[in-house]
Amino acid sequence: MTIEGQGIRWSGYSVGGFATCIDLPGYKVCVDVGRLVESTIARETVLVTHGHADHVGAFSQHVAQRGLRGTGPATYLVPPGLGDDLEAMMAVWRGMDGGELRCNIVEWTPGTPRLLRSDLVVTPFETVHRVPSQGYLFQSVRKRLSTRFRGAPREEVIAAKTRGEEVEEEIREARLAITGDTSIDGVLGRPDVLGADVLMLECTFLDDRVSSAQAREMGHVHLEDVAEHAAAFGCEELVLYHVSPRHSFHAARRLVREALPADLAARTRVWVGDASTMDGSD
Ligand SMILES: [Zn+2]
Ligand SMILES: [Zn+2]
Repeated sequence: MTIEGQGIRWSGYSVGGFATCIDLPGYKVCVDVGRLVESTIARETVLVTHGHADHVGAFSQHVAQRGLRGTGPATYLVPPGLGDDLEAMMAVWRGMDGGELRCNIVEWTPGTPRLLRSDLVVTPFETVHRVPSQGYLFQSVRKRLSTRFRGAPREEVIAAKTRGEEVEEEIREARLAITGDTSIDGVLGRPDVLGADVLMLECTFLDDRVSSAQAREMGHVHLEDVAEHAAAFGCEELVLYHVSPRHSFHAARRLVREALPADLAARTRVWVGDASTMDGSD
């Protein structure tokens, strides 16, 4: 089951504290491996948001499955500081497994863009959680004639190009942002993240069983935070995921509709469990 929004497709599974794995078949990457999702075994690039078990619990399974299928080791891009721990974990797994369990674990500093395709760049951004954590911003990339040369005769542009001058400028548009676990402070002040075509925002707590202050202390978003800062959400579509297992899909959807202003509620989907229990799935 794949969901589509704003031309972006995704599938996977997400329940807060239990497991999250988001597969992006169009981008050929997945974000987090809290549970092994069949379609992600084909992914050669895995982006990890942080080291909590509900996000990396199936890390060794992903590595092992690629080994069994002979697809070659994948590259796991992880927040700075997590690489050594994952290497140590895999060393234990190799001891138990007796196999090679090959993988490339690469620490990736927030703010450093990486080209996924000639027309797609992904950049990690620092978030606020209880351990080192980062979200991921996917931007489309295209080139156009730079403002300086707009309206100029063709010969002039060609002459400038021949002289080695840069005649094009790069346009980046935020297509998708996935926050990983964070308090609301990790996204406020990031208009590029808040204004992505699709923003997947962790929203663990939805009612007063946990207060907004408690959620912030734990490094999570509360639905109240989203309602309070509703005007900041410039995204075309907001997907709330990593919802606490205390909320069923239907209860979560009702709470979201009650809490958010109509304009934002109309742009918001809730994701609880696999992609079949999500607004807009059929
Ligand atoms: Zn989590
Ligand atoms: Zn976490």
